[in-house]
Amino acid sequence: MIVGILGGGQLSLMLAEAAKPLGISIVFIDPAPDACANRVARQILANYDDPAALEQLADLADVITYEFENVPSESVRILSRRLEVYPPSNALATSQDRLLEKNMFVELGIPVPAFKAIDSLDELREAVTKIGLPCVLKTRRFGYDGKGQAVIRSMDDVNAAWQSIGEAPAILEAFMPFEREISIIAVRDPEGNHRTYPLSENIHNNGILAQSYSRNDDPFFDQSCQYVSRLMDTLEYVGVLALELFQVGETLYANEFAPRVHNSGHWTIEGTSCSQFENHMRAVAGLPLGETEITGRSVMLNCIGAMPKVSGMQGLSGVTVHDYGKSPRDNRKVGHITLNAEDDDAVEELLAIVQRNIS
Ligand code: AMP
Repeated sequence: MIVGILGGGQLSLMLAEAAKPLGISIVFIDPAPDACANRVARQILANYDDPAALEQLADLADVITYEFENVPSESVRILSRRLEVYPPSNALATSQDRLLEKNMFVELGIPVPAFKAIDSLDELREAVTKIGLPCVLKTRRFGYDGKGQAVIRSMDDVNAAWQSIGEAPAILEAFMPFEREISIIAVRDPEGNHRTYPLSENIHNNGILAQSYSRNDDPFFDQSCQYVSRLMDTLEYVGVLALELFQVGETLYANEFAPRVHNSGHWTIEGTSCSQFENHMRAVAGLPLGETEITGRSVMLNCIGAMPKVSGMQGLSGVTVHDYGKSPRDNRKVGHITLNAEDDDAVEELLAIVQRNIS
């Protein structure tokens, strides 16, 4: 079986690595000659909207998936005429537009921060008075890792916030005083079977994920599980989906979902017997889903900007360094380090050693 992927970044690389033992090979489209997945998979070097490249991908592959949600919807439409594209196009379209996404959460009875659609500066001023301060302005489309966002703390910030997001169609939402940011990663196959990984608790720096902690037996697991199942069933979803939530007191509020494997689930490679990458491949290829239970505790540390020197950690049991082979650049995710141990204390001990050795 051959799976075609739109995108050849680190997620594609890890999907391809997980696909190999399943007897699945990967062909992907990416316009970057140094795309990380080209170490392990065949690349079609082209833009995502190149009609000839899309036809070539459809000729070679048995099924299509993607590794990022800003895939051109027209490309998905073209590919869908020839073969299945998973996750389905309605999931992609919803996740590409924060307003559609928020409306879907509301329809499904999943709490969200108070929000309003914004199309002009006047609407923004009025919405700020209704929602209250502080609040967050986010472009409806093409935002990621905190890009296309501005926090408004006083009425004096409104003009600058509107300009900073390029006066693009947006939503304004209440700033949540969250205790925790968590994500739940789940997978659904074409028959509607689901599996769910234990929760990840996530720490962000400047809007970019910095650390994820696996949280077994989390008191919010059942609630998160219900929300993600509702979402996947409604979308008739196939593949891995990540739902990001804010915990405020006893309530979970949905922030957004990603129709793909997710950075907060990278610890599943070493932490579970079937990683999010393998389960995504299994789902799109129509293979039985794998186990999602964790045996111990895991922590994932993102390497942002450049890979740290890891010499002091090499050979430490329970430490795995993933270097995506990307050139250094500010705010770029270039790798991650996963720590695994039998319990919280042991993983914290490992974390202290690794943090001392990172330079
Ligand atoms: P997003 O691109 O929506 O995932 O936002 C990136 C990060 O900004 C989130 O992970 C939060 O840390 C923060 N953030 C986004 N929306 C809000 C909000 N409504 N209230 C507080 N923090 C937020």
